[in-house]
Amino acid sequence: MDSGLLLILSFFAFGMGACIASFLNVVIWRVPRDESIVSPPSHCPTCKAPIKWYQNIPILSWLALRGKCATCKAPISPRYILVEFLGGLLFLAAFWRYGWFAPLAWVWISLMIVGSFIDFDLQLLPDFVTIGGMVYGVSLSIVFWLLAEFTAFRIPNFTDACFFVDPCGSIGGLALGFGLLGLVRWLGSKAFGREAMGLGDVFLLGAIGALCGPVAVLVTLVLSSVFGSVVGVALILMSKAKLGHFVAIPFGPYLCMGCLAWMFYGPELVAWYVRLLTP
Ligand SMILES: [Zn+2]
Repeated sequence: MDSGLLLILSFFAFGMGACIASFLNVVIWRVPRDESIVSPPSHCPTCKAPIKWYQNIPILSWLALRGKCATCKAPISPRYILVEFLGGLLFLAAFWRYGWFAPLAWVWISLMIVGSFIDFDLQLLPDFVTIGGMVYGVSLSIVFWLLAEFTAFRIPNFTDACFFVDPCGSIGGLALGFGLLGLVRWLGSKAFGREAMGLGDVFLLGAIGALCGPVAVLVTLVLSSVFGSVVGVALILMSKAKLGHFVAIPFGPYLCMGCLAWMFYGPELVAWYVRLLTP
């Protein structure tokens, strides 16, 4: 691809991600509250003034309004611009890694963004993210397998791509993710005498397995534990949480971070680990 076209498509991927994330902000806010995601149109939660289209441009509008409602000047959470920026960056990264197949990854990235932020807020993962991810992963693998079987169509690097797997890898990944975290959840509830982990996390790792395969499940589990521990220790140091005191830390966002690291650096991570083990 020549560099001019690559630049234009990169801008498009980032813009697309920011626009979709702007809609995901609405989903993150409204879905747990059982509100419709289409009506009423976007409005200021404080003064209910409708937001005009030019006040609703991802990233730019928040900056132009300096994070305040144009009508009542009530502050608008910086999370809106953060989610839009995150969406743009992740869509761009997926485009660089997967080229023309990036839109298939964008779907799962969008579901992970919604799931992570709802989990942060409410410690729950919606079924359309977790079960939706499992159905999406298994369906994708079957469609690509059928295409490869009956047509000349091939996914580039079918075997070492970190997002597309064959049906065996998909079902195997689903079973491994579901089984491993299901076991952790069962052992945890035995040890603590209470629910140590939500069923949503178990479903989420199942979905990651269905989309990315069994190796991704193992790598995601290791990485998410590292990310989760770093944040957990930071929270204890900032004395927001006390040692030995049971705090509910959502695990979903860390599983998603692990999955993203896999989707963008999977083979590199595995190669680095193998080099570490071999003298
Ligand atoms: Zn307002």
